[in-house]
Parts: sequence; C-alpha cells; structure tokens
Amino acid sequence: MAPCCYNKRLDGQPSVQFTKTQRQKSNLQFLLPFYLVVIPAPLWCILPHMRRLSLLLLAALAFACAPSSETPLAIMVLAPNANGLFEPQPQQLTTIENISKLEGSIAHFIGGARMFVDANNPKQATGNMEQYKKALFKNEGSGVRAQFIEKDGVLWPADFHSWAMVTAYWNLEQAFLYFNEIYGKQNPEELLDLPVYYWLDTNALEPDKQESNTDNAFFSGPLRMMAVLPFKSFQTIPMSINLGVMAHEYAHFVLNARVYHLDPYSPIYTVGYDSENSLLVNMEPQNILGSIDEGLADLHAYGVIRKFDGNGMANFIAWSLDETPFSKELTRQRNFSQGSHCMLPEWKTSLASTKFGMAYRIGSLFAASFYWAATKTPGGRNAHFDTMVKSIINAYDDEDPKNPGIRQLYLGEVSGASYLTQHPGKISLEDVSNVFLSHISHDDLRCNACKQMIGRLKLSQGNTVCNPSCYPNASDEICPGQP
Ligand SMILES: [Zn+2]
Repeated sequence: MAPCCYNKRLDGQPSVQFTKTQRQKSNLQFLLPFYLVVIPAPLWCILPHMRRLSLLLLAALAFACAPSSETPLAIMVLAPNANGLFEPQPQQLTTIENISKLEGSIAHFIGGARMFVDANNPKQATGNMEQYKKALFKNEGSGVRAQFIEKDGVLWPADFHSWAMVTAYWNLEQAFLYFNEIYGKQNPEELLDLPVYYWLDTNALEPDKQESNTDNAFFSGPLRMMAVLPFKSFQTIPMSINLGVMAHEYAHFVLNARVYHLDPYSPIYTVGYDSENSLLVNMEPQNILGSIDEGLADLHAYGVIRKFDGNGMANFIAWSLDETPFSKELTRQRNFSQGSHCMLPEWKTSLASTKFGMAYRIGSLFAASFYWAATKTPGGRNAHFDTMVKSIINAYDDEDPKNPGIRQLYLGEVSGASYLTQHPGKISLEDVSNVFLSHISHDDLRCNACKQMIGRLKLSQGNTVCNPSCYPNASDEICPGQP
C-alpha cells in the first residue's frame, strides 16, 4: 500500500505542530503534509525511444545563446498520443518567460536542491516557518538550464533533462489552463509562480531514514512548493513527463490554495491534536479532508487529460508504473472509472485512526461518485463533467453561511462555531458530501451525485441534503445491497 501524505505525517510520534505559540515550546519535529502521487516499488529506466532521442540529440549542437521565449512558443514535448503512448509532439507554451531557465508566470524550476528532514537537528524543531524552511534545505538550489535545438521554428529539447523539464512545465501549464477555466472570471493569482524543485534530493517522504527518496512527485502546501524526485526504478514514463501525475500534484496546489490558503499555520494541521498533552485525539476531520484531497486530485488529473485529448484517462498512474502485481493492484484501486469502488466497514472505522492509510481508497470513492454522476446524467459525461468539476471547485471555499464551502466546514470545526446542524463539532463523510452536493446546481446531476455518494460512501442517507427520491435503492447497481 502506498503511503499517503496523512499517513506519512502521522507515522511515528505525533508531530503536528503548526501553531505559532505551541511550536516554540515543542521539541517535536515539524512534519509537513506532502501530497504524493504514489510510492511504488523500484525499477525505473528511461523510455527506450527517449533514450534513443537523447543520445541522438546530445550529439547535436545545442543553442550557443538562449533561444527566444516569445509566446506562444512552439516546443516539442513528450505527450500521450491517441493510443496512450508517449511520443514527441509539437505543442505551445503560452505562459513561459524564459525557456532556457523554465521560468514563466505560472512556475519556475529550481535544480540542485537538497532538502533533508533531520529529527536530530535542533534548528528543525524551533523557530517559525521561514526558519524551519531554511533549516530544512541543505542546499536551496538554483535556476535550471535547459538546452534546445531549433528546427523549422520549433524548439526541440536537446537532452533527457531538457525533455523532462520542458514537458513538466507544459504539463503544469495544461493543469493551470484547466483550473483557470474552472475558476471562471476570477484571476487565480494564488496559483502563479509556483516553485518546482526538479530532481530534488530529499528524504521528506521517509523522514525516519537518511536515504534519498526517488520515483515520486509531491506538493507541499505549507512550503508552497512542488517537487519532482529523481527517477530510479520505474520502467516507463517518468513522473515529470506524466501529464496525469503533474496535474494530480497541481490539483493539490489548487485545493490547498482554496481551502487552506496555503497557510502553514492553518488549523488543519492541528485540528484533532491535543497540544496540551501532545496527543492526536480526533483524526477523522484530517483523514476525511486528506481523502478528499487525494480523490479530487485524481479526478482533476483526469479532467486535465480530458481537456488535452478529449477522452481523459483515469488510470494515468499506469503510464508510470510497471506490470508487477503490486503496481497493477495499485492502479486498479485508483482507477475510479472502472471496477467497484465501494466503502468497506473497516475503511470507515479507520477514519478515526492515527495510522490512517486509506486516503487514496476513500478518495477514489469521491472521484468515482462525481465521475459516474456526470456519466449517468442524461446527456452523459461530455455534457456534465465540466459542470461537475466547476461545482466541486466552487465548494472548496464559499463564505455564504447558507451554503458554506469545505474551508468554512473545517474552520467551523476548529473554532467550534460549526455551520453544521447535523453533526456539530465533527466533520463527517455526510458533512463534506453535503457541501459538494449543495454546490451542484443542476438538479439531475445533483440527484445522481446523491445516489452515487450514498451508494459508494455508504452515507447515512437521512443525514444528507438529498431528496429521498434521489436515494439509491438496494437493487441499484451502485454498490448493491447498500445501504
Ligand atoms: Zn496526491
């Protein structure tokens, strides 16, 4: 089972210490939530055709001086074709400002950085967030340098890392454009200028070890950074080149920006934590919110791919994983477009656990519910998917007291001034589902989302905002027999 960010955060000693006052007194380690894609078993290598390309192109002459970065900029990237195979394709960058440095309005790349979590380093146990960040980075890194060859007005990356970086930037731009469209007329300023640590040397995903992590990508809200780790073991598509993986991470960025305002001192990191006694007491809110974060990241990644190719790919992780039984099972669990995604009693019980490891599984139930609600509504997925994801984004942060967003839900939990009437002082699966359902204005879509969520998440239907005519019946194909 792939560790999840929340699982990681809670492994070992209680370590959630983000309050400004408490942190000074504590000798507990900061452990940040890293929103991962997956930690698979070993075995990476470069795509055969990529290796061939890089050898050919390395032999060619790269630019002696920096190429123009006038937008739209025609570049070659590695993107999936109609058969799901990655191949060099001419595409455009519209937000790039310096193609050699991979700097643009939405992101800038940083190379050569080293970030190590060290429980024995006193500088990582005291001070504010900025001081902590400084203590975390052994090497802050510097700007990257990509090489290109121009051919008929199109820039071709000249070596492997240039292919990987320019494709990663393009992937992030695809995600940005997708969310920009969903945001509507609001200017998503919080989504600009994201630092992307390329090939970051870090042990952050396994902080108990002093070894560098590989074969992964993550986003951290408190640190406001994305990282692509070195590849070592995968056999197919590197994370940075996988459009779905980068979109998944970007979706974490959007949710964390909207719901937690990227605040390192957000109460989300302390809710459920009894700082007096250094105990984790009620983990259900964190675990539910963490599950939503993972499930919606997969759903939006599908949406980004769909915007690109017109079809979408829920199983995008399979592009990067191998054919081992472990990888196949992992991709099956995450593929919300297929199979039976239904809540098991033990998953529900685990929501209160400090060793929660079900974020991806429970998250997939949300993703499956939204995906199938759009699919089952007359007109089909093509007619309703965009409306669905817009409703989801609108539900992240909504100050209307009659229709609060997820942000208001957890702030209510923290302050005790809960907007909720069903479960005051407690965030339940019904509560978060109700927030999403209440933001779907299309009647049929909402009704189908009710059926899906009640059926898959095994919600107590009487505690939902759903009209009884939208309850699934026991013979329904959604998790039959339930509730
Ligand atoms: Zn994730």
